[in-house]
Amino acid sequence: MRVDLFHTGGPKGEIVALDRAVDDGPWPGSRTRLLDDTNLGTHYFEIRNPRTNAVLYSRGYSSMYSEWETTGEPKKMSRTFPESLRFPWPKEPVQVVLYRRDAAGAFQPLFTAVVHPAAANPAPRPPLGKAWTVFENGPAASKLDLLVLGEGYAEKDLPKFHADVKKLVDLLFTYEPFKSRKADFNVRALDLPSAESGVFRPDSKIFRRTPLSVQYGIFGSERYVLTYDERALREAASAAPYDFLEILVNDARYGGGGIFNDQATAAVDSSWAEYLFVHEFGHHFAGLADEYYTSDVAYETGMNADKPEPWEPNVTADSKAFKWADLVERGTPLPTPWEKETFETRSHAIQKTRRALVASGAAPSALDDLFRAEAKEETALLGSMKWAGKVGAFEGAAYEAKGLYRSSADCIMFTRDNVGFCPVCRRAIGRVIDEYSRP
Ligand SMILES: [Zn+2]
Repeated sequence: MRVDLFHTGGPKGEIVALDRAVDDGPWPGSRTRLLDDTNLGTHYFEIRNPRTNAVLYSRGYSSMYSEWETTGEPKKMSRTFPESLRFPWPKEPVQVVLYRRDAAGAFQPLFTAVVHPAAANPAPRPPLGKAWTVFENGPAASKLDLLVLGEGYAEKDLPKFHADVKKLVDLLFTYEPFKSRKADFNVRALDLPSAESGVFRPDSKIFRRTPLSVQYGIFGSERYVLTYDERALREAASAAPYDFLEILVNDARYGGGGIFNDQATAAVDSSWAEYLFVHEFGHHFAGLADEYYTSDVAYETGMNADKPEPWEPNVTADSKAFKWADLVERGTPLPTPWEKETFETRSHAIQKTRRALVASGAAPSALDDLFRAEAKEETALLGSMKWAGKVGAFEGAAYEAKGLYRSSADCIMFTRDNVGFCPVCRRAIGRVIDEYSRP
């Protein structure tokens, strides 16, 4: 079942409203691991038996609404975002309870409604596109089901979409822990042709209307690519069983985005497509935070002093790194010294060049080349430090230069260096694979 909601916020606060309950295709998740104990996400929902109050299903997630909350705009204006909750079709009426985190990071009730299965529409959604199997290792209930959607592919581009899916999915499974856990996955893809090639890029004055409304320039950041239209995304995705999804965007301009248990995108013709795909999928799949802190982002930063310990598994406010202490080798200093000033000086110089390139309307390849030069320098610097490759507490993470720590000198959540996921990120990904792939 899929319950569609409207999530509104603004100067007067946050309101969730029920829209409808519909069929969302066969249940793809585990039938035994129904309760989510990972504590991931900005929001969390429970499906309860209203008579006994027993929790039948629960899941954490983040959303476009929660991304928007970090931009500062809600202080000035109201906005509504469609949002969906998916859970096994109930036999009897159920109570939906939605929670959000309070200032201390604890979940507090935000919204509740009783959903009657008899009043929900059980008719399957006629598929909007054609689903096909990339590889299948077993029944959906006992495997982690990944669905890859294409956006900005015209009918004539569908052979390219198939080639892009194969290439990028193959690359994802060269990264640990996906590589060693590949047998726990099913991967399917969905052909969803657009009228024209490419997607909406407002900064470049490229105008398109595509089936999922994926676009560049989300929340005012030119390289931030997502869809505000969650409804369109869920309607299309219901063509195949899925636990997580990735949207391949048929565009060359550097860009992508990823929201935990919601959506992820990557621009396939950027020469950074592999990095974008894997990094953004890390956000979507395991709720990993950006470990970087020197790039321009859509979020308000510098408010760290009032914030609680981040819920994301790969950043901490604790310089002794209690969160991943068991992975720290004896003798590693905490916090862990690193070439922070050198790194920041170089990184800020690159950012300045990047802003100038974007402002001058430079070709996509100019940005790609700049990032290549940056990665070469940073790989050398971060890979040669005394505590390189060790788990510790390295200050500078999640858009904050001070007060937040990442676990390794380098990681694909920190730089575009070809270093894969750090041990803490790997463990977080492995836990999500366990949650969905054990029958
Ligand atoms: Zn990491």
